[in-house]
Amino acid sequence: MTPLPPSSSIPSRQPHSLFIRGGRIIDPASGRDEIGDLLVIDSRIAESTAAQKGDSSVPVIEAKGLIVAPGLIDMHVHLREPGGGQKETIATGTRAAAAGGFTSILAMPNTNPPADGPNTIALMRQRARETACINVFNTGCITVGMKGEQLAPIGSLHKAGVVAITDDGHCVQNNEVMRRALDYARMFDLLTLDHCQDYALSAGGVMHEGYWSTLLGLPGWPRIAEDMIVARNILLSELTGARILMQHLSSANSVRLVREAKKRGVKVYAEAMPHHIALTDASVENYDTNFKMNPPLREKADQEALLAGLADDTIEILASDHAPHAAYEKEVEFAEAPFGIVGLETELGIFAKVLIEGRVLDWPQMLGKLTINPARLLGLDRGTLAPGAVADITLIDPKHPWKVDAEKFHSLSRNTPFNGWDLPARATHTLVEGRVAWSLEKGFGG
Ligand SMILES: [Zn+2]
Repeated sequence: MTPLPPSSSIPSRQPHSLFIRGGRIIDPASGRDEIGDLLVIDSRIAESTAAQKGDSSVPVIEAKGLIVAPGLIDMHVHLREPGGGQKETIATGTRAAAAGGFTSILAMPNTNPPADGPNTIALMRQRARETACINVFNTGCITVGMKGEQLAPIGSLHKAGVVAITDDGHCVQNNEVMRRALDYARMFDLLTLDHCQDYALSAGGVMHEGYWSTLLGLPGWPRIAEDMIVARNILLSELTGARILMQHLSSANSVRLVREAKKRGVKVYAEAMPHHIALTDASVENYDTNFKMNPPLREKADQEALLAGLADDTIEILASDHAPHAAYEKEVEFAEAPFGIVGLETELGIFAKVLIEGRVLDWPQMLGKLTINPARLLGLDRGTLAPGAVADITLIDPKHPWKVDAEKFHSLSRNTPFNGWDLPARATHTLVEGRVAWSLEKGFGG
């Protein structure tokens, strides 16, 4: 069968041309890192900048002091549409993404109804074409209703344009069902994303099981509940040959398991989130529900293992797990509150603070995990500044101190643990197919 290309949902607009002058061009896909100019002709990266000489009709962006990177890709975003309009919509979620420097996002399927069939995917893609300001790519569910029992129609989902399958928010507990899902995923060469959580081992848990859960009297969600499924997935990937990405790793043991499996050539990949590398379970001290997420914040040793995993490329993906919740949903007792926090508008700054200022990664290494790595895993024709590539570009000011103010978020939700934080860097321009979707100076479409 010929699958539909994993096209974005941005409506076709007039082709755009643009000249970006004097920035630090970083293209992790090719290893390019130099001060230079970048020319966009008809919404694509041009072969050379020679054509621009003397052409004053092409708009110019002065990029002195800025990083010119491929458009950032966040492969773990909850948009909440359909069914969760009080938390987020495709319109507000993509605006938040654009303001965070992202040109493409991958939408998780735990909407209401869930994206477990081609009709829901068609609806979501239609809504994105009408209301999104950046590219939205879709995932489909692994199982019907994310119940973990009956396989979703993976072939039809693939035909409808999904670029990965996942039951994110849920985890398929039945190993036989997961094995069959992976057999299908392999047939279509679809990446499977797994939220690794053994339900029996984590039953009732609302925070990391350890010193703080004991002190605070809250039920624990121990590391072993993640490690067990990571180990299961490694074995199933070896058996089926299917590619699996372990979503939002939080545990030191999981990092070790993935590292060892990769050494054996198993096709497993891993993702890290800003909150797991910036915070520990000690933050739960005041029962603030903005520190409640799934998997939970863990200990210093886990944080250090995640950083080591990012440094040696055991973890090749950085993403947000943007999970908006309305204030009235989060303003309840810790044990009762929903899991999850927003992330799109703060993640680049948090990553710069923890990874660049912390000397864990340099800019090219960090940007690779936000551009070409997700593009390759998902099979997207994005994530590079190579000549001929689609002109999705993010300009970043690496020396732009700013303070997080949740009241200014473009997201409909405010549930962030980072309110009031001082961050060292931020995106200044988000260009989708050569068009300015957002700029720090002029806002949307400016
Ligand atoms: Zn998840």
